[in-house]
Amino acid sequence: MRFGIHTLDEFEVSGRVVLCRIDINQPVDKKTGSLRDITRIKACVPTVRELAERGARVVLLAHQGSDIEYKNFYSTRPHSKVLSELLGREVQYVEDVCGPAACTAIRSLKNGQVLLLDNVRYCSEEQTLFELKLKLTHEEQAQTQVVRKLAPLADIFVCDAFAAAHRDQPSLCGFEQVLPSAMGRLFEREYCVISDMMENPKRPCLFLLGGAKVNDAFLMMRSVLENGAADRVLTGGLVANILLLAKGKHIGRASEEFIERSNNSGNIRIAKELWENYGERILTPIDLAGTDDGKRCEYTLDTIPEMFGALDIGSRTAKAYAKEILAANTVFVNGPMGVFEQAETELGTRTVWEALGETQAYTVIGGGDSITATKKYGKTDQINYICTGGGALIRFLSGEELPAVRALRDAALRE
Ligand code: ADP
Ligand code: MG
Repeated sequence: MRFGIHTLDEFEVSGRVVLCRIDINQPVDKKTGSLRDITRIKACVPTVRELAERGARVVLLAHQGSDIEYKNFYSTRPHSKVLSELLGREVQYVEDVCGPAACTAIRSLKNGQVLLLDNVRYCSEEQTLFELKLKLTHEEQAQTQVVRKLAPLADIFVCDAFAAAHRDQPSLCGFEQVLPSAMGRLFEREYCVISDMMENPKRPCLFLLGGAKVNDAFLMMRSVLENGAADRVLTGGLVANILLLAKGKHIGRASEEFIERSNNSGNIRIAKELWENYGERILTPIDLAGTDDGKRCEYTLDTIPEMFGALDIGSRTAKAYAKEILAANTVFVNGPMGVFEQAETELGTRTVWEALGETQAYTVIGGGDSITATKKYGKTDQINYICTGGGALIRFLSGEELPAVRALRDAALRE
């Protein structure tokens, strides 16, 4: 047991049918349907390999795409091929989630064999709209089609989908009601890394919050400042612009218009409150950068031109942040420092990421664009932990209990 949840150490799996929920949701090339990244598929290999090597009959359940963005609502067939290659053993695939074809394929499995079912979100009960509209309890989720059909064929349920642990859906929270349940190795590791960071970080502990998802950033910021996990929060991107505005600084009319257009006006009030309560631990930029005629231009805060649009932190800020990172012992990063996709406005992100590569601190990065930046600057091997779960990570750090964690804990308590 760890965190009140069973681990794979506590179950005999040989000869048993183990139903394992993984998260291998990846960006898909919309023209060819092929996978543009395989980070999450790689990350679930240790659990699947261990189960197969210990002689389990492994049934994998996963989703691809969301119903909010139907465009990447694809089959999991390509994932089965990638997983086969990574595992060095065949991963069977069946074009069915919980109908007769899936059930037959599960019954035919032999010890050590692995089967991937089709995209579980082809079942409407698994979709986000269903989740948000109906708000089923976990008990009710156990009554859904996917659980009623698959659970009787399985002996043990394993949840290894930490990246989806914030979803309150049957494939994540329903099986725990009716099957002995454990978390997989990836789940265990990710949970461990981020709960250590919340409860027991080596100090000084910095949180770098940038990017454009300001609501999420402010939720995390409040939570880590309030519970004391963060000694300091360093801000960049749109998050910093809004804090500066809340402090009454002039950051240029284009910046202000962008904040309004991106529905962030309400966040100025939240920023003010954060600033009043925790201002001495929140760092904001001392200079900002934008573009003029396609060239980078930088200004200190008191010299910002009237029409300016801030798209990056300035080089003095970047240097100051790098210094903080080099002196820290724990650094968590979510969100780039500027529009790093463009050459003129990448300096802030590049400088900070260089420091992340260099520092002796324990470094954790989460968030899609932050991971893209890590790859772009060739820092993947130098970061201690790259978390596969964006949404789950943000909610955990915001102090919320994750539905899949609660389901796994309840399952352990019932025994
Ligand atoms: P992550 O995916 O790492 O969680 P976000 O999605 O919150 O990060 O933010 C990433 C996006 O924010 C990038 O596309 C980047 O271009 C954009 N961004 C960064 N700084 C600014 C800024 N000052 N103004 C507008 N957009 C920004
Ligand atoms: Mg993003």
